[in-house]
Amino acid sequence: MNVLVINCGSSSVKFQLFRMPDEELLMQGKAEKIQSGGTGFFFRTKNLEFYVEWDPFSFPEIFRKIMKVLVDPGQGCLSSLDEIDVTGHRLIHGGEQSAECVGITPEWITYMESCIPLAPLHYPANLEGIRMISELMPGVLQAGVFDTAFHHTLPAKAYLYGISLEWYRKYQIRRYGFHGTSHKYASRMAIQMAGFSTDNSRIISCHLGNGASLAAVKNGKSVDTSMGFTPVEGLLMGTRSGDIDAGVLMFLQHQLLLTADEVQEAINVKGGLLGLSEFSSDYRAVEEAAGKGIQSARTALDVYHYRVKKYIGAYAAAMGGLDALVFTGGIGENSPGARKEICREMEFLGICLSEELNTSMNGRMALISDAASAVKVMIVPANEELMIAREVAAWAGTKAGMKDK
Ligand code: ADP
Repeated sequence: MNVLVINCGSSSVKFQLFRMPDEELLMQGKAEKIQSGGTGFFFRTKNLEFYVEWDPFSFPEIFRKIMKVLVDPGQGCLSSLDEIDVTGHRLIHGGEQSAECVGITPEWITYMESCIPLAPLHYPANLEGIRMISELMPGVLQAGVFDTAFHHTLPAKAYLYGISLEWYRKYQIRRYGFHGTSHKYASRMAIQMAGFSTDNSRIISCHLGNGASLAAVKNGKSVDTSMGFTPVEGLLMGTRSGDIDAGVLMFLQHQLLLTADEVQEAINVKGGLLGLSEFSSDYRAVEEAAGKGIQSARTALDVYHYRVKKYIGAYAAAMGGLDALVFTGGIGENSPGARKEICREMEFLGICLSEELNTSMNGRMALISDAASAVKVMIVPANEELMIAREVAAWAGTKAGMKDK
């Protein structure tokens, strides 16, 4: 069965084509908005890579290009789009829906449209991806995996905010959490690598990329996570502030006369590593600057690591202990410095990082704790697309008439 996974965001479209159940990656690509406002398109198969640019950035143009390269006699790996059995979309927000993988039907589209206010920047792009596939590959099975779904197991004590319950009942104002597919993949891989039984495992998954969140995964289920109603809550991120006293936002509005949009921009676009370092949202750039003695960069990193450590402590308490700590995402996988700082002086919790493995296994799926560490520390390279392909293939397999090819 060939599964085309589509991840359609506000300024990029990523795709991966898998042959399932072998999990063989046949092709992948990413089209994104570049500084000129045009499109940069990177594409890779087993034997070939290429990059092209064109103007402007538009979803119809990107999808037509993807379809064209998939079946291109020189570059592609399919002789016809009919060889794609099912497409799987990454969907940003499932609201209070618990279903992880859903078949795309007119009813689900109506439901997703009702969720647009919960993710106004991302959802229109998700829906556009579904529309483009319907137009260019009419009749192909389409399914979607919600980024919030893995966290539907959060108990009320973890998802309720301390405001009037009426607002939860009427408007579903509550904590949802994001990066669910990544946390699910990382925690599943950790269970497999450590040889734990799912029913007896307490794992903290740290997804540290441009956006960042932690999840407490007890017995295979998410019981808490650091992002909330929106992705701004929790950790310090590239440009997001993470946790902030709501009183600060009122101060900005009432005393500095910022508009609601300006406040939104302050905490989503101008905060985080960028706000504190005063020059970059990119962890690697901030790390390099800190190495050169730039004080604002050092301070930004200190805040970054400290926030992750606090959440690890909180989630170990929430789960009554900890068996494994997993790092994933661009920073979690690739920065030995970040992992070292986060694990520093955490021996009291049973976390003993091996300095040697932390460096030598950087970027790879690996165990990086000391043999004596009570808590297994691991790197799991993020692979949300594979997780989506697994779920979508399992869903499609239950549909009448679908057989593994
Ligand atoms: P996204 O959330 O957009 O998918 P990624 O998971 O790719 O982002 O993570 C991007 C972050 O990873 C950036 O802050 C980047 O600086 C950081 N990063 C990537 N490689 C390294 C590295 N070798 N060392 C430190 N940070 C890195």
